[in-house]
Amino acid sequence: MEFCLCETVVMPKRAIRIAKHIGSTPVLATCVACNQQFKAPTSALNSVKDCTDAIQRQFDVHKCQTMDSSPNALRMVREATEDK
Ligand SMILES: [Zn+2]
Repeated sequence: MEFCLCETVVMPKRAIRIAKHIGSTPVLATCVACNQQFKAPTSALNSVKDCTDAIQRQFDVHKCQTMDSSPNALRMVREATEDK
């Protein structure tokens, strides 16, 4: 097997995507894996660095919850396995 274990074990690839800028300041970002949104606090809006840091920090601590949004997927998998 040539699969890289780290790819399989780690959840869907997390990546941050800036959804909205004010000028060059990122104010809203989303996780491409779970669509969670990260907002820069208004108190940081006058600093590009503060906004970037705040968004990045929220992104770092969040957990992708793709499972929660599709509880049926789990059931379908289980039914499919029981069938065999
Ligand atoms: Zn995520």
